[in-house]
Amino acid sequence: MSTGIALELRDVRKVYPGDPPVESVRGVNLEVRDGEMVAVRGPSGSGKSTLLHLMAALDHPTSGDVRLAGSAVTGMSDRRLSGLRAHRVGVVFQQFFLLEHLSALDNVAHGLLYRGVPAAERRRRAAEALHRVGLGHRSRHRAGKLSGGERQRVAIARAIVGRPAVVFADEPTGNLDSATGAEILALLRGLNAEGTTLLIVTHEAEVAKACSRSIEMRDGQVVA
Ligand code: ADP
Ligand code: MG
Repeated sequence: MSTGIALELRDVRKVYPGDPPVESVRGVNLEVRDGEMVAVRGPSGSGKSTLLHLMAALDHPTSGDVRLAGSAVTGMSDRRLSGLRAHRVGVVFQQFFLLEHLSALDNVAHGLLYRGVPAAERRRRAAEALHRVGLGHRSRHRAGKLSGGERQRVAIARAIVGRPAVVFADEPTGNLDSATGAEILALLRGLNAEGTTLLIVTHEAEVAKACSRSIEMRDGQVVA
């Protein structure tokens, strides 16, 4: 049953231990509705990546509550958390994290490893996802041989291959030239138009403009 709320954060904090400890996220409250496309902006070091990891349930907050796709992440067992991530969430990381020696197809098929999908079906769906991001013709190429824009498409295909409700992307156009960045942005808008909720960490005004709203971070807090 859908509540209409894709993501909810209540007084979320993240402190990294150290001397002194680093308070990367300091009391964030946020609500994102199903189907929104939200930009997360702010200077380097303001906590955007940390917040994205917390929102995507890749990391536990030090305190506060995260609800993602209708489930409370706080206190969830690791097993249920893996299930939630595998079935409901897609993440496009800042540094792609592709397996360079594997083909584009195998990289994308990896996105389904934890869903108990048989190998042949994983490959079929991976081919479909690559086609969707305009890379059908490159599926046999090794990831390490692809251009930056192509690698980003593979990373997006891997994030969406499980048809997640929510996709998080960390500076998805950050390392690309402006023409390639515009193509990636068009791809993300297309996903959103089909109903996927998107949260995009970005420095770029073009990307933020394409979003339905922007939140601005400073020193671990949402300031606007
Ligand atoms: P942004 O993505 O906005 O550049 P980050 O979330 O990466 O910001 O970092 C916010 C702050 O948290 C920075 O001061 C950074 O050095 C610190 N930080 C991030 N990750 C860790 C970590 N694993 N351990 C310690 N400090 C961290
Ligand atoms: Mg970052």
